[in-house]
Amino acid sequence: MLIVALVVCAFLARKSKRAIANDVVMLLVALLPPMIGNSIIIGANDWLAANIGCYIYFIGLDFSVLALLRFTADYCDIAYVGTKWRVIVTSLVALDVLQLLLNPVTGHAFLTRLTMVDGSVYYQLVPLVGQYVHRVVAYGIFFVSVFIFAFKTFSVSRIYMEKYLVIFLSMVFVGLWETFYIFSGTPIDRSMIGFGVFGLLVFYFALYYKPMRLLDSMLARIVSSMNAAVFFFDTSGKCIYGNDAARSMVGLGRDEYIPEDVAKSISRAIGGWGGSYKEEWHVVRHVVNADEDHYLDVLVQQIDDERNRYLGAALSVRDITEEERKLQREQFLANHDSLTGLFNQRCLFDRARMLIDEHPDTQYEVVGLDIKDFKIINDIFNKEFGDHVLCVMADAIRSNAVAGTVYGRLSGDKFGFVAPKGMFTAEQLSPLLDPQLYGEAIANYPIVVHVGVFEVADRELPVSVMFDRAFMAVKSIKHDYSRRIAKYDETMRDDLIWNQTISSQLEKAIRERQIRPYLQPMVDATGNIEGAEVLVRWVHPDEGFLSPARFIPVFENNGMVAQLDEYMWRCACEILRDWADRGIDLFLSVNISPKDFYFIDVFGTIKGLVQEYGIDPAKLRLEITETVMMTDLENRLRIIENLRAEGFLVEMDDFGSGYSSLNMLKDIPVDVLKIDMMFLYKTKDQSKAQTILQTIINLSGQLGIPSVTEGVETAEQLDMLVNMGCRMFQGYYFAKPMPVAEFEERFRAA
Ligand code: C2E
Ligand code: CA
Ligand code: CA
Repeated sequence: MLIVALVVCAFLARKSKRAIANDVVMLLVALLPPMIGNSIIIGANDWLAANIGCYIYFIGLDFSVLALLRFTADYCDIAYVGTKWRVIVTSLVALDVLQLLLNPVTGHAFLTRLTMVDGSVYYQLVPLVGQYVHRVVAYGIFFVSVFIFAFKTFSVSRIYMEKYLVIFLSMVFVGLWETFYIFSGTPIDRSMIGFGVFGLLVFYFALYYKPMRLLDSMLARIVSSMNAAVFFFDTSGKCIYGNDAARSMVGLGRDEYIPEDVAKSISRAIGGWGGSYKEEWHVVRHVVNADEDHYLDVLVQQIDDERNRYLGAALSVRDITEEERKLQREQFLANHDSLTGLFNQRCLFDRARMLIDEHPDTQYEVVGLDIKDFKIINDIFNKEFGDHVLCVMADAIRSNAVAGTVYGRLSGDKFGFVAPKGMFTAEQLSPLLDPQLYGEAIANYPIVVHVGVFEVADRELPVSVMFDRAFMAVKSIKHDYSRRIAKYDETMRDDLIWNQTISSQLEKAIRERQIRPYLQPMVDATGNIEGAEVLVRWVHPDEGFLSPARFIPVFENNGMVAQLDEYMWRCACEILRDWADRGIDLFLSVNISPKDFYFIDVFGTIKGLVQEYGIDPAKLRLEITETVMMTDLENRLRIIENLRAEGFLVEMDDFGSGYSSLNMLKDIPVDVLKIDMMFLYKTKDQSKAQTILQTIINLSGQLGIPSVTEGVETAEQLDMLVNMGCRMFQGYYFAKPMPVAEFEERFRAA
């Protein structure tokens, strides 16, 4: 039976994935021969069978101890396989096997003697010298193994002892059992039973036995040394365990006993606790004590057995103050602008959404604030000063904020609020708009803040769109010095959409010639046509006839005007080429927007066009306004000089409409003055306007710069201008701007 059991165990052990399993299989298999040998001896009733049994027994025992030593070494983590010790031991065993095998010839090892035991025949062993040698080898190796186990058992930590102790004891048992047979003189040797039992014990302890006590004590040790306070409660809610941290949490010393009704103290320490152990429970508590505050992570867990029966509860309390602070810091950084400490855009939008959603009965206004020309402030002063301005602005917003509002910095120089309607009146805002706020340093450069207000009618709109609209209102007064606050209205949005639409259509419009030049004659006093101004027109498929006043400012704003102007210059060159071919000797005057200088090489482009079409530069006049000279004066002057040097005539357009026209005149080298039509408008003080006009005409005469008066609408105006000494005119009195073909016809008819 034992043999069968060992065979089964060997099969099971082969399936185990544990490292030691191989050694166990080997040991179990190696135990079989001595047991079989032993059984043969006991059952043998003739000499030969008994002797064969003996050889199997003794030689098998040699293999068993070899396997045992290998198992022992591996189980006890001792280096053996691959060392010289294994070679020595294996050689010893090999020699022993050899001398045993020589016994039939030499008869030096043992012989068997027939005896009668309980009335049946039995061959009893008579050991000779070889047998003693064999015993020394086999038991020697066996005792080495026992010694190793003994050493391990008593040297390891107490919680590991179990692992070695059981095998050690069973070895001692087998050893004693065997010794008993050797020395007792009992005729029938049944030591194989000891081997079998030993094999089964090894199998179980090496492969299947889980040292629960070891696990328990490991877990207990971890729990007791944990930073978190851990309490265990039984089914009736009595505390049955608390670790060190738990004891110190409720004010007990290390060795003090935790009272069963510790719940009250716990509740005090964690800032209140229902005391229910029967349900899962997890909260983060902010506990404020006299001198410090803590964040505690409190978790109550129910413990059930494998059949879902309630065993008790565990309560753990972890101090997460540091983690929590870190999290708060990170959250602060994620939600706030690092320069001003105000909410950043994302957070402002979130808070605004919450505010609006949580107060469905309150009307809100979204307010956008924008510092005018902030880039210039950064430029003129420096970035530090720019930052200072932003911080002052932020502080002003913070200190003027009222409960029930949210505010933050959206980006760069843009700030924003959401507030109940009517809360942010002009007076309320005035502290923010006061240039004095920013200190004396910028007395010469007053900082202007523009405010746009969007009244939230549709609460479903995304907050970002609400702010977009507030800033649309800002945009509408951006270039206006007189207004600081603007309210959004729907036309602003319509305008924006319209602007975007026509901007997206420009290229196609040029390609399809929806955009085309109109010509307005420039004439002498008798109405004789000398040339014409090229004025752009857009015959739009949906919008109809568009005046440049509708789209030029849009394109000037987004820079697309350069594309448009370049096209108009090309049109002018085309016409001049055609005229030159047909012998029409007139000049054309084109407009150059101040913005063109930002986006294209004005000189190169115009010169290139004239070369491309092979026309006389003197036939292409260039109209610039004084605003061209407002920035980058030196470069612009150089460009104009270059153009004049190429032979182009440069006209100063809208002369007199700007702030410093006269002043400009001394710097800018121009060939013609186009006097602005506003001098002809009916004003309260007609005589004053006329005096100025007369002065300008005189001045131009004295400077030797011919003048053209624009906007002549009546015969009286013409008479007056002729009397004042003006030589050239442009205006509805003579002709409105007209298509090229119509212009040519008119010229031919004259
Ligand atoms: P501007 O350069 O001062 O052009 C003269 C404007 O005065 C033209 O308006 C013209 O039609 C108008 N005008 C001429 N005679 C009279 C008159 O007797 N009475 C009145 N009330 N108005 C008269 P338009 O064509 O609507 O152009 C407006 C402005 O658009 C132009 O003013 C110019 O600044 C700009 N513009 C037109 N075409 C172009 C262009 O191709 N490029 C650029 N950059 N600007 C252009
Ligand atoms: Ca013009
Ligand atoms: Ca003009």
